[in-house]
Amino acid sequence: MGGGTAGWITAGLLASEYRDDAGVCVTLIESPNVKTIGVGEGTWPTMRTTLQMIGLTETEFLTECSGAFKQGTKFVGWVTGADDDYYYHPFSAPAGYIDLNLVPFWQKQNNNVSFVDAVSIQGQICDRNLAPKQAQTPEYAHVANYAYHLDAGKFAALLQRHCTKKLGVRHVLDHVASIDGDPDGDIRAVRTAANGDIEGDLFVDCTGFAALLLGKHYGVPYLDKQSILFNDSALAVQVPYANNNSPIASQTISTARGAGWIWDIGLTTRRGIGYTYSSAHTTDDDAQAVLGDYIEQTSGMAAKDVEPRKISFTPGHRAKFWHRNCVAVGMSAGFLEPLEASALVLVELAARMISEELPASRSVMDIVAKRYNDRFLYRWDRIIDFLKLHYVLSKRDDTKYWADNREATSVPDSLQDLLRLWNYQAPGRQDFSQVDEVFSAASYQYVLCGMGYRTQARLSSRQADAAGKADQLFAGNASKARQVVPNLPGNRELLEIINKRGLPKSDAA
Ligand SMILES: Cc1cc2nc3c(=O)[nH]c(=O)nc-3n(C[C@H](O)[C@H](O)[C@H](O)COP(=O)(O)OP(=O)(O)OC[C@H]3O[C@@H](n4cnc5c(N)ncnc54)[C@H](O)[C@@H]3O)c2cc1C
Repeated sequence: MGGGTAGWITAGLLASEYRDDAGVCVTLIESPNVKTIGVGEGTWPTMRTTLQMIGLTETEFLTECSGAFKQGTKFVGWVTGADDDYYYHPFSAPAGYIDLNLVPFWQKQNNNVSFVDAVSIQGQICDRNLAPKQAQTPEYAHVANYAYHLDAGKFAALLQRHCTKKLGVRHVLDHVASIDGDPDGDIRAVRTAANGDIEGDLFVDCTGFAALLLGKHYGVPYLDKQSILFNDSALAVQVPYANNNSPIASQTISTARGAGWIWDIGLTTRRGIGYTYSSAHTTDDDAQAVLGDYIEQTSGMAAKDVEPRKISFTPGHRAKFWHRNCVAVGMSAGFLEPLEASALVLVELAARMISEELPASRSVMDIVAKRYNDRFLYRWDRIIDFLKLHYVLSKRDDTKYWADNREATSVPDSLQDLLRLWNYQAPGRQDFSQVDEVFSAASYQYVLCGMGYRTQARLSSRQADAAGKADQLFAGNASKARQVVPNLPGNRELLEIINKRGLPKSDAA
């Protein structure tokens, strides 16, 4: 239930998983009266797999959704707010990531090469607005790991067409007025205005902030996390490029401001820009002025012409996500804030688990529900820690917002423990137990090192023995940068080629 990105991704993954199984039918019900949220344009590399699983070609996706390549995030002004204050959180893992933790060796080098440049070529690619692949690289394959920036409205429309025409999803455009089922029992059907009762065995609540099934019908509590993550408001706007040749940034640009931060997402046709902020630390009018200034400085558009859309939210998530025969995916399950684009990746992971572990009968559904809830509660907690890390490490003291963000009472114990531990051991793969962490130790390393955090850990004897290997990895990365970076096309250049003649099909296609 719900035809936003969450609804269509879930329908697409379910329908493609069971496309040859007549026993599984997917119906998507979407209200003609309730608009989708219409934002959510930055993604994770998981999206490449999701699109492939659903059966979309990359060319189709990029051309129809005004899609562009995203290779990570550039954080501007998050540490001190000085003019030269920026760092990257790229998608490529550090060189040798599986074998050797390079953080202590990089620290020891102390040679003014940033962590990202010492262990990856992706910061240099982003600095030059280059693409993550060549025109001859097959669909979904990469030279440097990447995700996408996309137009959320166009994406939902593409998914709708594909799911209904190619995957047999039944689409009902109707408003659900009530639910048939006792709040203490299973949902039997949802009651629509024009199509009567629509029955089902499993109901996926993708109704956005309304959370009509899991929240309203079942009353599953919403856990408010605003005491940790302060942002609860956003002003969003679409901005044209200055001209047809303006570079398309290869990464989301996240610029810190007095009471929050501004996202800047480059598509092929326009930029999506927004200021997310804490209403306890600024007013809507001041926030609009801050956004207007940014747009004026970066696009030449006059601040007075900016008419942003205001979106309010309560950062947090449901106490559980799967209850009886109902599971919430997307904003109905929760939303923290746009930082690090963690919402759509959670939608993808949720939809994958639901389709891979779709209960064969009602008798095993509660077992799957428990596994699902355990896994996703863990994931939400880890994401909260990771997002908060960006604020805790900041040294900005220009506003109360940044000072409040460092108050120990606002920092989860789990994150405080990690930070204490990392004084004495370098952040690494041993810190996170799951194989499919949303934010792996690589992400922590980029943010920690990028924001100036230094461990006091000394090299153990065994680590010291690996110094030669570390030097080889640093030298290998530098040589790779010299070979690869100058030969990559510009981001805009490659996207224009794809729009004209597409990407070569992958071998698997
Ligand atoms: C400011 C902001 C920025 C964001 N940026 C990012 C980002 O960069 N990256 C990212 O990953 N995520 C981002 N997100 C989150 C992202 O937008 C959402 O996760 C994503 O769009 C999925 O939304 P949804 O499908 O859950 O809800 P919605 O898009 O709100 O869809 C809800 C659906 O439910 C339907 N519905 C509601 N009531 C009824 C009813 N009674 N009967 C039938 N249907 C009904 C509506 O018609 C609609 O189709 C952002 C969110 C915000 C607020």
